[in-house]
Amino acid sequence: MSTTELATDTVLIVEDEPKIARLVADYLTGSGFTPHHVEHGDAVLPWLEERETLPELVLLDLMLPGTDGLTLCREIRQRWPKVAIIMLTARVEEVDRLLGLELGADDYICKPFSPREVVARARAVLRRSRAATAPEEAPEEAQLSLDDEGWRALADGHDLALTAVEFQLLRVMMHSPGRIFSREQLMDHMYRDHRIVSERTVDSHIKKLRKKIAEVWPEREIIRSVYGVGYKYQPEE
Ligand code: CA
Repeated sequence: MSTTELATDTVLIVEDEPKIARLVADYLTGSGFTPHHVEHGDAVLPWLEERETLPELVLLDLMLPGTDGLTLCREIRQRWPKVAIIMLTARVEEVDRLLGLELGADDYICKPFSPREVVARARAVLRRSRAATAPEEAPEEAQLSLDDEGWRALADGHDLALTAVEFQLLRVMMHSPGRIFSREQLMDHMYRDHRIVSERTVDSHIKKLRKKIAEVWPEREIIRSVYGVGYKYQPEE
């Protein structure tokens, strides 16, 4: 049985293009991380099994020689649930497909990316996963709560007066903080009767929902758009 201990700020880069791997590794090192690099898909699981401490984060390329990124993502999620995963993909459209597969990756980055973006996303994902594994320390202020029976959302006790659709959207996203939902996934949750609705419909409901939240918390952006992909609920930065 291998370890479940995480080594803080350690990142495993799984990438078969040495140039990209080196660039990302250099940037991570310069930003205080300790990167490791594995090139071949088949080498990833053995590498993790042999570690005395696990990397906190895996940057996982989708297309790899040997075992592909999809399979590796599922395996890592299942065997080492505390390890955060950011998938690297070649196309934005790919992200939609991956989201549909519900692999459980924490974030997705499309190539070509800037190493600076990778570092920023790595920090955000780690902040989130550390908060999730840290002992409960619920902040007293700024609570958003749902009243499922009354279909009401309360921000610091103020009723946001959401429509049924807005409430459902918020409920779906709040159920999985940090998870990115595509517009299509959100539509599935909103319209059980398979009415034809456009993705713009989702955008317009989200816009109204955000506006209502902003009336109570002008400084906080808890529903975020993820460019080219969809939306997520993220209460903390
Ligand atoms: Ca590749």
